[in-house]
Amino acid sequence: MLDILIKNGTIIDGTGKPAYQADVGVANGRIAMIAHHIEQNAARTIDARELCVSPGFIDPHTHSDGPLLVNRQAESKIRQGVTTEIIGNCGISVAPIAGEAISEISARMAKIDLDVTWRSMGEYLDQLRKPGVAVNVVALIGHNTIRGSVLGYKNVQPSPKQQAAMEQLVDEAMAQGARGLSTGLYYPPGYYAATDEVVGLARVLRKHGGIYTSHVRSESDTVLESIAEAFEIGEKAEVPVEVSHVKIEGYHNYGKLDRLLAMMDDVLTTGRPIGFDQYPYTAAGTWLSTALPYWASIGGAQAIAERMKDPDVRAKLHRSWKEERLEWDNRLGVRDWSEIIISDFPGRPDLLGKSIADIAEAEGKNPLDTVFDLLISSNGLADAIWFTQDENIVQTLMKHPLVTIGSDGRALRPEGVLGRRKAHPRNYGTFPRVLGRYAREKKVLTLEEAVKKMTSMTAERFGLTDRGIIREQAWADITLFNARTVSDTATYTDPHKYPEGIPYVIVNGQIVIDNNQHTGALPGQVL
Ligand SMILES: [Zn+2]
Repeated sequence: MLDILIKNGTIIDGTGKPAYQADVGVANGRIAMIAHHIEQNAARTIDARELCVSPGFIDPHTHSDGPLLVNRQAESKIRQGVTTEIIGNCGISVAPIAGEAISEISARMAKIDLDVTWRSMGEYLDQLRKPGVAVNVVALIGHNTIRGSVLGYKNVQPSPKQQAAMEQLVDEAMAQGARGLSTGLYYPPGYYAATDEVVGLARVLRKHGGIYTSHVRSESDTVLESIAEAFEIGEKAEVPVEVSHVKIEGYHNYGKLDRLLAMMDDVLTTGRPIGFDQYPYTAAGTWLSTALPYWASIGGAQAIAERMKDPDVRAKLHRSWKEERLEWDNRLGVRDWSEIIISDFPGRPDLLGKSIADIAEAEGKNPLDTVFDLLISSNGLADAIWFTQDENIVQTLMKHPLVTIGSDGRALRPEGVLGRRKAHPRNYGTFPRVLGRYAREKKVLTLEEAVKKMTSMTAERFGLTDRGIIREQAWADITLFNARTVSDTATYTDPHKYPEGIPYVIVNGQIVIDNNQHTGALPGQVL
């Protein structure tokens, strides 16, 4: 007796092989059989005549660390067909925490009404396991969190003893179930770290079989050098590398695409263990405080807010805006202030969806002063969406054989605290957008290629065995979607919208999305 029988579906197995018709039987959490006609009885039969049967999507780049504890049903992800989330990216994990990182992470988690009661990676993962989550989770250790724990958030270099303390935190967290280290060298305090500091930390991953992922130091003026640094770290530490959300930011940098592609082709030819992921949008989403030069962003969110009250600092920033405009452009990546939109602002829903230019005009202020004042009144915690990228570059990178799909998003839901912020549409739309807009409509990828970039490629990179593939004995993480209708509906102005055309999602052999409804099942495992 089977648990689930999926009849008459079109199998897209995740390897990139052409689609074919077959029935799929699920028993004991795994795919028990795949055959042209399965006659066995099943507790539940799903008629998949109109549907593609694909491995559940694996999201290599998420920030769901906190949200999964607030939204265990992982609505915005599971409804995209995502069955595994890789959390702790961009150097920002919520565990392990010590020292100054406790208050910094607690302040960020307070935005979603989440109490930080854990310290170690093991304690955090236990909170995910009990009472469970809808999706499987792979945890990365964030370098900024480790650095904040040992050195605080200042521009300092570690002593040998402090370096050893950071390495020990990585070692312990890996032993407790993490699967790699992420850096956000673009963000302070990661930005202050020399390459060798990261090499030292990444070297600890080797004995655990871990991966190094990076939001590289710059995605604009020095994007090529920054990606080369990620390669170097992987080479010196002898660990695989994942370059996160590959992109070129800033219109004056778009001409660097050919050189970036040459670097990627070289990785392909030499067969080094290096991969890239990408979100299918031309806007980034991150902290408003990243608008500031690094010297003005020392010390975490609260310290930044305090600093913005200092008239001397503000005068210095105004002078720098006049004298070092190119540096600001490189950091901002936008053409003007109308291309930065407020997406989250504690206590001020009226500001959501407004651009810096709008707010400056309404308040009769200079846009720079507007940014400083917004940082003060949000205690440094405002978030924004930044229109920094070019559609043609997004499509060209998507086609590259080393690029997979990742959301850079969180597991949100429209109701409650997670729906309060404006958010980036990628939280709800990434995977269906690639299937609908980029595969079906624009033909940037075939459907089989698109699914491969969402499943087996990511499983392989992160060492997830028996996942990301429709094959007998693989785990039954399965997404059923309608290739003719699958699409994202979330937009920048109306982001909390579930996609269409993904009526069934199965995680470890349990149905989580059943005929478009969430069953409440929490079958996800910490992998
Ligand atoms: Zn990032």
